[in-house]
Amino acid sequence: MRLIIFGPPGAGKGTLSSRLGSRLEVAHIATGDLIREEIRRNTELGKTIASYANKGELVPDEIVTEALKKRLSHHDCSKGFILDGYPRTLGQAKSLERITKIDAIVRIGISESMLVERLANRVICRKCGAVYNLKYLAPRKAGLCDVCGGELYQREDDKSDVIRERMRVYEMDTRPIMEYYKGKIPFLDIRFRSHTTTPEMMIERIMEKLRKSGATN
Ligand code: AMP
Repeated sequence: MRLIIFGPPGAGKGTLSSRLGSRLEVAHIATGDLIREEIRRNTELGKTIASYANKGELVPDEIVTEALKKRLSHHDCSKGFILDGYPRTLGQAKSLERITKIDAIVRIGISESMLVERLANRVICRKCGAVYNLKYLAPRKAGLCDVCGGELYQREDDKSDVIRERMRVYEMDTRPIMEYYKGKIPFLDIRFRSHTTTPEMMIERIMEKLRKSGATN
């Protein structure tokens, strides 16, 4: 099973893809992680990559595609993979076509108002990284983490106007890629319908759609 997953920032794409990877017994490959690993190893390539990634810019297509190609040759990809964060440009989509076949595209949808409500109420523990939602999953003691007692804070980019801007950029950036795949690869659209939707419920819906599409055969 070879999948690509798309979803706006903050929709829980990372969590969903890693759980879906375990469920399908395929590798979850986040190109952001590949990039961070290269930077951490501080190789020549890592230094070049850091000069882009540290400014928040995309790493050039050839570099990220080469890193992905290397990753796909690992043994844990023999049964398939879920690509998370790639392709991010039309050039990458075309390169991917030369590297491997893709069975389906999972597309996570969420309304802008729901995303704002989800993220604008999100607080994170400075110490252990546990995530809370002040409306739907509040900590027992205001401002403190239930797990370790650490201080809870709100990310700078979780403010509502920044969230709207990130959603706009996401839609603008992914549109040409979606256009490119239309009619070539089946889309499995999964929407967050309410705040009580859990990742497990989303996974079940994705599995159901995969079965119906015949991609799990
Ligand atoms: P992410 O964790 O997906 O937000 O990625 C972190 C950083 O890695 C991005 O800001 C980019 O600099 C880089 N990156 C990740 N995936 C790609 C990609 N497909 N193409 C170019 N740069 C990428």
